[in-house]
Amino acid sequence: MTAKPYPDSYYAASANQAFVFPSLSESIQADVCVIGSGITGVVSALKLAEQGYKVALLEAEQVGFGASGRSGGQAIFGWACEQSYLENLVGQESARHFWSIALEGLAHTKQRIKDYQIDCDWCDGMAHLGMKARHDHALQTWYHQLQDNYGYNSLTLWDNDQVREQIDSPLYTSGLYDANSGHLHPLNYTLGLVAAAKSAGVDIYQGSRVTQIIQGESVTLKTVAGQVQAKHVILACNAYLEGLSPYLESRVMPVGTYIAATEPLGEAKCWSLMKGMAACDINFVLDYYRCSADHRLLFGGRVSYSGAEPRDLKAIMRAQMIHVFPQLRAVNIDYAWGGYVGITMNRAPHFGRLANNIYYAQGFSGHGIAACGIAGELMAEAIATTAERFDLFTRIPHRAFPGGRLLRTPALVLAMAYYRIRDYL
Ligand SMILES: Cc1cc2nc3c(=O)[nH]c(=O)nc-3n(C[C@H](O)[C@H](O)[C@H](O)COP(=O)(O)OP(=O)(O)OC[C@H]3O[C@@H](n4cnc5c(N)ncnc54)[C@H](O)[C@@H]3O)c2cc1C
Repeated sequence: MTAKPYPDSYYAASANQAFVFPSLSESIQADVCVIGSGITGVVSALKLAEQGYKVALLEAEQVGFGASGRSGGQAIFGWACEQSYLENLVGQESARHFWSIALEGLAHTKQRIKDYQIDCDWCDGMAHLGMKARHDHALQTWYHQLQDNYGYNSLTLWDNDQVREQIDSPLYTSGLYDANSGHLHPLNYTLGLVAAAKSAGVDIYQGSRVTQIIQGESVTLKTVAGQVQAKHVILACNAYLEGLSPYLESRVMPVGTYIAATEPLGEAKCWSLMKGMAACDINFVLDYYRCSADHRLLFGGRVSYSGAEPRDLKAIMRAQMIHVFPQLRAVNIDYAWGGYVGITMNRAPHFGRLANNIYYAQGFSGHGIAACGIAGELMAEAIATTAERFDLFTRIPHRAFPGGRLLRTPALVLAMAYYRIRDYL
């Protein structure tokens, strides 16, 4: 089967390595078969291969084809849902475990870049921006909650004047800056992980979509032209899982989100827009942006619940960018692309097992760069040593989207319309 090419993105145009992996055309055996070559799948494969497991990694398209190779690149602390939500759900003590696991995810992201010498333009700093009194209050509450209850002390609150010094936009009234978060080139980060997995001995197949999973003590995974027999399986397909598990798909909604890359603006211009960090506002449907290593503005936002890419994406993204940075009116957009984020009903991550030996991690809800890496590590840990930390996540209940896999979109459109109106108000 031929793998689809990457979308025509700034990331694909600036990828610093490419791989030729075969398509699976025979019957093979492995200790572990990982399905999906985003950050989640590749990290789990890498960690297991480093511990001596025979690992096969099957990717439907090219390695890094999914969200991991297209994202905003913002590596952020915590989970997509708020800590207070987790506290109410599972109690203070367990919520603290989730928090420290999330921080471990961020720390390990930076460590992996060092350990495997991944050339992916890491930069420190990330700002969450408020644009109205309700946001200002929410950022203050967030700051005190994390600083006072969790001892997280890399945060700084910005008032109206301070936020204007950092981000040259008329929109913002406050900010919460985290020196511990950061941003990176997501495709080059993912490809760097793939290179490490290959060196560690993982057998990687592209253009090898798994079409059927036959459960058992030894699991059989069928592709169009081959099959894998494995003792353990890791499902790491997130929003790109199409028809492989109705149960998983009913609990995660693929929502399209889009990014535009301007022409190179030069270092001084980029620095005048924002001081090196990544940023996003705190609306439910949010704008997120950062400057690239070659000094373009990468501006993300806009969502599509139908999954269809909006027509004339460059013009739409340009209008949104100019709303935030009116001074970029004359700037050209070189690339615009999109991808799917996998949203859960409660925006908490959805980890678990389909059977004793089939693990999954999905539903990072747009907050996956750091979280996916630790999800991959927890699945590897569950197979190699102990499932204690992985199983913590099964305490988070997840409801199916009304209508299940086929009819979930209309319900989500209604729910999101509510949040969109709330953002405007
Ligand atoms: C435009 C965009 C912007 C984003 N911005 C940010 C951000 O700034 N910060 C942040 O933290 N998160 C962001 N995210 C979310 C983040 O990118 C994801 O949470 C994360 O990359 C998911 O990684 P993953 O490995 O779980 O899945 P993916 O990277 O999506 O990988 C899944 C892979 O599985 C493969 N696959 C699917 N089905 C099969 C099958 N049957 N057989 C074989 N292979 C299969 C797919 O082809 C795909 O390559 C963004 C996402 C998008 C789309």
